[in-house]
Formats: sequence, C-alpha cells, structure tokens
Amino acid sequence: NVSVALFTADLRVHDNPVLRAALDGAPRVVPLFVVDSGIRAAGFVSPNRAAFLADCLADLDGALRARGGRLVVRHGDVVAETCRVAAETAAGTVHLAAGVSGYATTRERGLRAALAADRRELRVHDTSLTTLPAGAVAPAGRDHYAVFTPYLRRWLAAEPRPVLAAPRVLRVPRVRSERLPDAARLGATGERSPRLPTGGEDPARRRLRGWERGGLDGYADRHDDLAGDATSRLSPYLHFGCLSATELRHRAGRRAGPGAAAFVRQLAWRDFHHQVLAARPDAAWHDYRPRGDRWRRDEAAVEAWRAGRTGYPLVDAAMRQLREEGWMHNRARLIAASFLTKTLYEDWRIGARHFLALLVDGDVANNQLNWQWVAGTGTDTRPNRVLNPLTQARRFDPRGEYVRRWVPELAGLAGPSAHRPWRAAADVDYPPPIVELTAAAERFHAARRG
Ligand code: FAD
Repeated sequence: NVSVALFTADLRVHDNPVLRAALDGAPRVVPLFVVDSGIRAAGFVSPNRAAFLADCLADLDGALRARGGRLVVRHGDVVAETCRVAAETAAGTVHLAAGVSGYATTRERGLRAALAADRRELRVHDTSLTTLPAGAVAPAGRDHYAVFTPYLRRWLAAEPRPVLAAPRVLRVPRVRSERLPDAARLGATGERSPRLPTGGEDPARRRLRGWERGGLDGYADRHDDLAGDATSRLSPYLHFGCLSATELRHRAGRRAGPGAAAFVRQLAWRDFHHQVLAARPDAAWHDYRPRGDRWRRDEAAVEAWRAGRTGYPLVDAAMRQLREEGWMHNRARLIAASFLTKTLYEDWRIGARHFLALLVDGDVANNQLNWQWVAGTGTDTRPNRVLNPLTQARRFDPRGEYVRRWVPELAGLAGPSAHRPWRAAADVDYPPPIVELTAAAERFHAARRG
C-alpha cells in the first residue's frame, strides 16, 4: 500500500498536513516534487526564487534521508508526471495541499480528473499554506472579507488547527528519481541577486529561533524602523512553506506582550490576502475595485524607478535593496509602491511585475493584493492616500542610515540631509528628482476625481 505526497509550497517535514496524511494512510510514501514545465511556461520562474527553491529541495531531501526516505524528483507536466509516478508505484492516493491561485486550482482540478480516470484518488488538505483555510470565516452572505479589520476579529477568534509533529521514519518504495535540480534546471535564466538568503527548512528554523530570542518582543515598536531592519525576514520561508504559518501563530500566540501580538496580526494579513485571491482569482491581474484609472505611461520615469534613480533617496534605497537582496522591508515596499502608482501615477501591474521578477518571497496573493492595496484599487479603505517620501523619511529613517546603506553616492551626506541631496553644498553624483511631489499629488487627486 503506497501513497504519494506531492510537495508544492510546503517544503518541510514539520507540521506538514500533506506528509502526515500520506503517512497515516499508507505504510510507504513517495515524497514527490515535480519541476513543473507549466510554471516555467506561465513565466513565474525567477532567478532569485529558483536559487532559493534549489536550496529548499536539497534541504528537504536531507531531512527525508535523515528519516530513512528521500525526495523523488521528476521533470515535466505536474499532472502527467504525478500520474506516472502513482502508476509506477501502484499508489492509490495522492495527497496535495490546497492552493488559492488560479494556477493552483487548475492544477488541482487537472490532477483530480486524471487520477480518477486511473481509478486513483486525490486528497486535498487545507491549512497548509495559511493558518485558516480561505473561506473558513466569511461575512454573512459573502464568500470573503473585503476589509481587514473585521476579518482580523473573526480570524483571532478562530482556533487554528493543532501543530503536527515531524515524522520520525519514512519508507519510500523504489522509483526512478532525477538529480536534485539547481537553479538552471529549475528554468532560471539570468543573474540572481548577490545577497540572497539560503533556502530550506533548517535555515528557516534557525532564523525562527533567533527571531524568537532576539526580535519578536521588540517587534511592535521597531517594525517600521527602516535602518533597524527589525522584522523577522521569514517571508521567503513562508512563501516556500519551509515554515508553517500555523506553527508560527501557535508559537507567537503563547507569548505575552505587544511584540508577539503585532507579529500575529501580520500573519493575519497574509491569510487575508489569500482569502481574497481564493474568492477573486482575477484580482491577480485585474483591479479588485476598478476606479476608472487612466494610468500614465512614461517609460523613462518607470525605468528610473526600477533602477533606483528617481532622485528621491528613500525610494531609490528601497529599489536598490530589492535588487541586491531580492527582498525589501515592508515600509520600503509601501513607499516604493506608492511612489510608482500615486506620485508617478503608473499602473500597479508594472510595479507588481518588477517585484515578482526579483522578490524571493514573490507571491501572487501577497504581492498582487498588496500592490492593489497601495494603488487604491484593492482593499484599502482609504484608497486615495499618497505617501510622501520626505515625510516617510522623517518618520522611518530619521538619521538617513537606511539611505546611506543602499545609496552609496550619498554616503558623504550626514544625518537626515541624505534625504535632500539637492540642498547639499558639495557636488553629489546623484540624479535630481524626476517629479515634484506636490504637483504629482495634485495630478493624482485630480485624476481620481475624474
Ligand atoms: P514581518 O514583518 O516579520 O512579518 C511576518 C510575516 O507576516 C511576513 O513574513 C509575511 O508572511 C506576513 N506579512 C507581513 N506583512 C504582510 C502584508 N502586508 N501582507 C501579507 N503578509 C504579510 N509579502 C510576501 O510574502 N510576498 C510578496 O510578494 C509581497 N509583496 C508585497 C508588495 C507590496 C507592494 C507590499 C506593500 C507588501 C508586500 N508583501 C509581500 C508584504 C510584506 O511587505 C512582506 O511580507 C514583509 O515585508 C516580509 O518581511 P518579514 O518576513 O520580515 O515580515
């Protein structure tokens, strides 16, 4: 008796409902990862995520080997290849984690139909990706929450499922496996960012323990301090499922204090965006709330934004951090996204695409719906607010340290003067602002008024 545990975005052995169910259902299990040609064709492979994913797969294989098993790797169409492995091992059941993106739901439908045609069964497990399954809480008469605060209230009141222990031993039947893939084998072309984190469950758990020891308690006070860099940086590990959001919620929930409470609230944001996308998969690329925007199209301005050469040091620091690290601080993401969509009044999709190309945590639900939130086409209840990068600089980088870290041309400007290089007495090799802020804000408000 054999079953297949198909790994997708749950690359871990701790608290893994898919692996647990497969092991409970059959004495022998095939832990399978398919390098899916469909994801490559959909254009979702990026050098940064591919490098991180290669680490994750090597780490997962190591964890499975330590338990007497191994990861079985195949290449090709995920539906066809999973069916092939099930047939080769005479597996009766394939276990899969529920996803919310259009891609994940199509994959699930395809697998169910193809396996049924072979008299095999697909079992889909919830609450692997998020702490509450999408749709678990909903307002009366609707399929999802469109506003965060009432969602949060219900989310906090709902009990997440218990955490599952990692299996101790695993028996894997004989079946052909290909080599563990590197980034190129995963379909990545082009250069990766020079300062990427290392992927995998083991580094994730080490980072988590360090975070719980040194960061969590101060999170409520420090999470917006750009130079302090005092957030968990767990997002890539959550994206690839090296850590379970449910386990994080339980662990933080056991701690008293404002730091843990603020951190748990961020996990609710993650679930919130996933339940919006599950109900409205079209929101990945279409306005969730269309406002009739007629975005500008100034390629030179967009290119300056992408390159971190807008002449606004805080925006430029953010964009350069993204390029260097494949990651950006949340406050910086808000500022950079507001600048593109409201100050430059460029279409949020342009920004979302650029972020997805570089972010190692790049995620359809979190990226696209946060972009829409900032652009005012999404779930923000104040869709017309514009973040002024100079005001933001005073509040969140008051000494100019974040800017000097990422924009070396400004290293010679002391304290907050780094935010206004146009006032510097010395010659600074840095572009002048590409837009005037007050006029830009007026342009945006006038456009929204229609
Ligand atoms: P922490 O502050 O330590 O928070 C802990 C966890 O909570 C994060 O790891 C993340 O999983 C979750 N979280 C925090 N804030 C949010 C949020 N606003 N929405 C959803 N989940 C949240 N997050 C992604 O994971 N992938 C993305 O592609 C992504 N794109 C974004 C694009 C824009 C324009 C904006 C404004 C935000 C985006 N975010 C995205 C959300 C957020 O910026 C990151 O999750 C966060 O910066 C990750 O850093 P951290 O792990 O240190 O977060």
